Amino acid sequence: MKKLYVVGIGPGSIENMTLKAYNVIKECDVIVGYTKYLDMIKEIIEGKELYSTGMRSEEERCRLAIKLAKEKDVAIISTGDAGIYGMAGLILELCNEEEIKNVVIVPGITASSAAGSIVGAPLMHDNCNISLSDLMTPYDEIKERVDFAAKSDFIISLYNPKSKGRPHYLKECIDIIRQYRDSKTPVAIVKHALREGQNSLVTTIDNIDYDLVDMMTIVIVGNSKSYIKDGQFITPRGYNTRC
Ligand code: SAH
Repeated sequence: MKKLYVVGIGPGSIENMTLKAYNVIKECDVIVGYTKYLDMIKEIIEGKELYSTGMRSEEERCRLAIKLAKEKDVAIISTGDAGIYGMAGLILELCNEEEIKNVVIVPGITASSAAGSIVGAPLMHDNCNISLSDLMTPYDEIKERVDFAAKSDFIISLYNPKSKGRPHYLKECIDIIRQYRDSKTPVAIVKHALREGQNSLVTTIDNIDYDLVDMMTIVIVGNSKSYIKDGQFITPRGYNTRC
């Protein structure tokens, strides 16, 4: 039995990958992942056995990776962190079923951290991630979490904010958050953070241009103390910065 690595490749540029993720990918014989993710790291996977297209579901891809890891070292890749809406959980669940113990999870920079670094320091206080994808979570549950997170004054990073099938969810969730936030609350809209095509905007909760948002975007909403200064989105930690 060889090793099965579940690797978070970070946002998608080689320089923002951890050294461990880089080394693991370099050393594995087989790489499994979406075509567009493989494409992001193509310069380091040349000549390896690649599995991407032709697999309908994530489960199918995970099962294939588990099977291949019986013979060779395999890396199955996610963007960002593999443990945040990535492949780590499903791999472990499937491996537990089969009592397979050769899994190693390699973390990466998740989208909220990547986006945060571009717009300033929005995540400096207690924060949470909420995915607006209703493929596996009922929309009512998502809205309830948004409500509780807003009520509890968390900074909220909205993953999977928009898709063709659910164009209105983002606005509906922002409307929930607005019940608890000032109209000037900072909002960051960051597309393709730290990879080719990067685009970012810092605005306020009342001025969001929803047309800018798509599935390649993350939306970060500040807490009640977040502010914008010289275009930077800052959430104070609470240090006394007055001299
Ligand atoms: N495992 C990933 C998240 C996968 S869910 C991670 O840890 O980052 C997919 C969603 O993540 C996208 O719809 C988008 O909202 C967000 N995302 C992932 N990479 C991104 C990037 N580079 N820039 C902006 N958003 C990104």
